[in-house]
Amino acid sequence: MIIDGKAISLKRKDELKKKIDLLRSEGKRIPKLTVVLVGDNQASQTYVRNKEKACAYVGMLSEIIRLDDTINEQELIQVITGLNQDQSVDGILVQLPLPSHIHEERILDLIDPSKDVDGFHPSNVAKLLLGQKGLVPCTPQGMMVLLDEIGFDLTGKEVVVVGRSNIVGKPVALLCLQKNATVTIAHSRTQNLKNVCQRADVLIAAIGQTKFFNKDYIKKGAVVLDVGMNRDENKKLCGDVDFKDVEDIASYITPVPGGVGPMTIAMLLENTLLAYNQREG
Ligand code: NAP
Repeated sequence: MIIDGKAISLKRKDELKKKIDLLRSEGKRIPKLTVVLVGDNQASQTYVRNKEKACAYVGMLSEIIRLDDTINEQELIQVITGLNQDQSVDGILVQLPLPSHIHEERILDLIDPSKDVDGFHPSNVAKLLLGQKGLVPCTPQGMMVLLDEIGFDLTGKEVVVVGRSNIVGKPVALLCLQKNATVTIAHSRTQNLKNVCQRADVLIAAIGQTKFFNKDYIKKGAVVLDVGMNRDENKKLCGDVDFKDVEDIASYITPVPGGVGPMTIAMLLENTLLAYNQREG
């Protein structure tokens, strides 16, 4: 069965739209997401445009602050500090990557954790680790929604997450652990990766390697979530999983495009509404 991330994401956005319509009809303040984009990286421009479109779809306010890549770190710090203090801003997202002369970590650490809708601030990371309420990174959160939507109970299940990045691998592993799964995090130094993956009731592929996982990595009936966003030899968007090879052996599988990807933006909007609700009390 193919997990239709596009449809699930649309459903979540429609639910959000209803909530925001209600706020509007009650004359309440409307949630606002501010995206800071430094430089003219083409992929980043596209991501930011998509975020802007998604905000418009659900009726949320959005603002894109476009800054020249010659901006220095101090100037960027001032922009972020201003957004932290701006009472009309609920969510702040700094589009990555930043130009190399800017210290990315220093900038992300500066974002007010209560407005950190990407969930990358150390304070939100700590909350996730401790199982406390906070803002959770969007792509991992999106995968949990997908599992929920197919009615998959993680309790006691073997989850293998391949990839240990701070934005995908580690947080999704923690979320699965919170749902009582037995979690293994694998990475480029893992030995016998095939054997490790074959144990998985749920395989989460997040390595950024075109069609790396074929059927030899998959246990019959496993759920396969493919986070990868790569280009194949024909420059077509594809995942980390060889979909054609795996689709008959998996019970559920996410396609690329149209699987995990669309969930990320929906969760960003949900995080912005959550940040708004927390600020409004
Ligand atoms: P990343 O920071 O580059 O991390 C990649 C991870 O994969 C690392 O932990 C690395 O291991 C591991 N890895 C690489 N090659 C491997 C191999 N051959 N065998 C086992 N492990 C291997 O990547 P990321 O930011 O997490 O992103 C992963 C993929 O997801 C990319 O394709 C990215 O474009 C995509 N992505 C999609 C979304 C979405 O919304 N759909 C969001 C974020 C990312 P080491 O730690 O040992 O180096």
